[in-house]
Amino acid sequence: MQLYSTLSRRLEELLTDTVRMYVCGPTVYDLIHIGNARPFIVFDALRRYLESQGKKVIHVQNITDVDDKIINRAREEGVPPSQVAARYTEEYFRDLEGLGVNPPTHSPKATEYVPKMVEFIEKLVEKGHAYVVEGDVYFSVATFPEYGKLSGKVLEELEAGARIAVDEKKRDPLDFALWKAGRPGEPKWPSPWGEGRPGWHTECVVMAMDILGVPLDIHAGGNDLIFPHHENEIAQAEAATGEEFARIWLHNGMLTVRGEKMAKSLGNFSYARDVVAEYGTEAVRYFYLSRAYRKPLDFSEAALREAKRAVEGVYGFLWEAEALPEEGEIPEAFSLELSSLEEKFHARLSDDFDTAGAIGALQEIVGAAHRLRQAGGGPTGLRAAAALLRRLAQPLGLFQTAPPQAKGLAEELIQLLVELRAALRRERNFALADHIRTRLAELGVELRDGPEGTIWLLRGRNQKAG
Ligand SMILES: [Zn+2]
Repeated sequence: MQLYSTLSRRLEELLTDTVRMYVCGPTVYDLIHIGNARPFIVFDALRRYLESQGKKVIHVQNITDVDDKIINRAREEGVPPSQVAARYTEEYFRDLEGLGVNPPTHSPKATEYVPKMVEFIEKLVEKGHAYVVEGDVYFSVATFPEYGKLSGKVLEELEAGARIAVDEKKRDPLDFALWKAGRPGEPKWPSPWGEGRPGWHTECVVMAMDILGVPLDIHAGGNDLIFPHHENEIAQAEAATGEEFARIWLHNGMLTVRGEKMAKSLGNFSYARDVVAEYGTEAVRYFYLSRAYRKPLDFSEAALREAKRAVEGVYGFLWEAEALPEEGEIPEAFSLELSSLEEKFHARLSDDFDTAGAIGALQEIVGAAHRLRQAGGGPTGLRAAAALLRRLAQPLGLFQTAPPQAKGLAEELIQLLVELRAALRRERNFALADHIRTRLAELGVELRDGPEGTIWLLRGRNQKAG
């Protein structure tokens, strides 16, 4: 599989059998919004696809549980910051479940790694890459000549921009804080430089290196993190170890609203759970995975409604095909068509995880099945198409829901009405036959007349990913 790395600016081959992947996780001061959900859905799907291809994936996604935003929220509510962080950590896991995202293999909390962060910062100070000013510790960007290699930013330009916000304590305006001296009412930990707390850029580096070791196979996150967060992670990690930090850097595009980035600070956001409640888990996943992950994507009700319709369309095919009896052979040409679509599905995903192209291949399976049916092809071919679609879509967390079942008396009553309707049609009493069909449809029971007779399907209400 090849993946486009922001660092090398080209496709890189993913070679290892065990893939060590770090994804920047949430800062737990509020519920996640639907834009925050994009990297969680995309990189979880990548992990599941790699696992389906026989690779082992160690997926670390951190929880930033000490941060200015958490402290501010705690102050507003008059509770300790740890209480705010604990509450939103729990809600984050609930949201992942609602989004059909598997829990990462590791979800380290920054506060559990502070002693290791202190050790790491000491090493940078010893090596001359960091300096201490009044209880703060700063990374000296001038000591890392490769600074800017990820973002492609040129030092001179950065210097000019950074001078606008001059911090007297820094030797150079580009230097960034590794450790912040404790202020009253804030969470604090002991260190050789006095009590304080780690900076965000240091948190991710230390958790990533401690759990995964260097170089990571993949470091991922939203493209709004390229600068300064990921640039600063590289500088610290490589200055401390002298080794490459991460081989492949993956960045997803931003979710926008009318072309503007969705952000809490702009007030143009929707909470992930509200969107899931309105459109369903699979419509949200389909919305993201049917587009190229690196491109920006505009959020709108129309786009979500369209995704929901597309998901329902696929289920319409699946549930109908699966209700058919096993009958006849799969036409050879159709069998070949399915094989080539399966190949196409994998080829798309192997090319920079092109989920949009892969979902296109799934839709082509539905299209091929419709053509087979129109040509009078047998039920076995349709069932094979449905089985293939389900198997391929599984790592994407799509199309795994079984048809809703009617059991016992309900099933027998539906069957009775279907028989009654067939008898009415034979007697050419179409008005009453149609009335039965319409009333059943209103109750969520859809009748479909085909060459095999009439089959009935229950329409699902709330579809969830498997
Ligand atoms: Zn991070």
